[in-house]
Amino acid sequence: MAQADPFANATKQVNDACDILKIKDKQLREYLAMPNRVLRVKIPVKMDNGKIRIFTGFRSQHNNDRGPYKGGIRYFNPEGGVKYMEREVMALSSWMTWKCAIVDIPLGGGKGAIFVNPKTEKLSDGELERLTRGFAYKIGEVIGPQKDIPAPDVYTTGREMTQIMDTWSKMNGNKYSPGVITGKPIPMGGSLARNVATGLGNAYCIREAAKILKLKLKGATVVLQGFGNASTFSGEYLEKMGAKCIAASDSKGSILVPKGFKVSKLLEYKQKKGSVVGFPGSKKISTEQLLTTKCDILVPGALENQINTSIAKKLKCKIIGEAANGPTLPEADPIIFKKKIFMIPDILANSGGVCISYLEWVQNNQGYYWSFDEVAGKMESNIVKGLNDMHKLAKKHKIDNRRAAMALAVERVLEAFELKGIWP
Ligand code: NAD
Repeated sequence: MAQADPFANATKQVNDACDILKIKDKQLREYLAMPNRVLRVKIPVKMDNGKIRIFTGFRSQHNNDRGPYKGGIRYFNPEGGVKYMEREVMALSSWMTWKCAIVDIPLGGGKGAIFVNPKTEKLSDGELERLTRGFAYKIGEVIGPQKDIPAPDVYTTGREMTQIMDTWSKMNGNKYSPGVITGKPIPMGGSLARNVATGLGNAYCIREAAKILKLKLKGATVVLQGFGNASTFSGEYLEKMGAKCIAASDSKGSILVPKGFKVSKLLEYKQKKGSVVGFPGSKKISTEQLLTTKCDILVPGALENQINTSIAKKLKCKIIGEAANGPTLPEADPIIFKKKIFMIPDILANSGGVCISYLEWVQNNQGYYWSFDEVAGKMESNIVKGLNDMHKLAKKHKIDNRRAAMALAVERVLEAFELKGIWP
């Protein structure tokens, strides 16, 4: 079966937002949907066996009307091949534009990728470093602290970010330039709170949604799908706000703990046993049972395409905080809206990561570093404002939160474009 075109999907979302905002001009719609530039590069690498291998990489720069392009670099080999990857990178760069605009950070949208799977292809550390530095060199002219600031994504880490920073600094007169990239390790100019950012941001969103619904967080029940970075920190911070986690899952299965569990205890158990399944006092349940467990807060924090129309009809939660990217199918949204479940769409719910990336860049630019609480506090104000702005727009147009979030973002980008005008 042919894979859906992710960029067509991203374009449809822009057009939907334009419909809400009554933007009829087709050229303006195209301006908002299309990336400003998509750079495709070939990267020759000398492999450990002495042979040369040519890799293909991309950097898509979608929009910089509000500030430099921002977005991750992934090493991956999607099933659709290099052509599919180009469309995917274009779509991902578009979503970054909207994500930054919703939380009102002065950055635009970008995304990069190299067609390689370092895990299955078992690249050595040396091969990976030569590939990373080769890519940094090839995209070197279009990135920079005031131009385009990449970050980690699928199968890239602080190690690759450090190598890109070092390569770019050396290409630019040996100027120390930590602001060319974010997601760096702390000694390399990284920011505190980056590791917890996504879950913490999601917890802030959920707290604000609970205020709107007049739902007390003390004693509120939480279901976590997935038990990795995004979901465990969502759970841990909701727990600190008084909520109680009652169900969780991982790739090996789902569990229900009617009396509730401490996230730290389940983490300890998973570290020892390799899964959440079998946790004392728990009952094994199916994925569908997990998602449709009666609870106050559902955090889909693992995979895309989890909530379909059939699950949506059976949901028994009051708030959904989409820590994962794309966990809800588009056709399920109207059902969730009708059921008056407060949906916090992924584009806002998991924006804590990009907020702290922005704050890392600010700290790099000023050469002065903040404490954990300072960084978390600044991220909190952006996220809380984003959620309330989205809610206001949803109420004004009587639309669901996902469409409101997109409309809000498109409105902000358009405002910047119109203020700047066109030159040359
Ligand atoms: P992770 O690898 O830390 O955790 C993923 C979790 O999902 C693991 O516990 C894994 O066991 C579980 N899982 C895998 N298959 C599953 C299945 N079939 N059913 C239930 N659980 C399953 O990854 P992460 O960083 O937490 O990312 C999770 C999601 O959040 C992804 O969609 C990612 O794009 C999104 N996200 C993460 C961040 C971040 O900063 N970590 C930022 C934005 C978005």
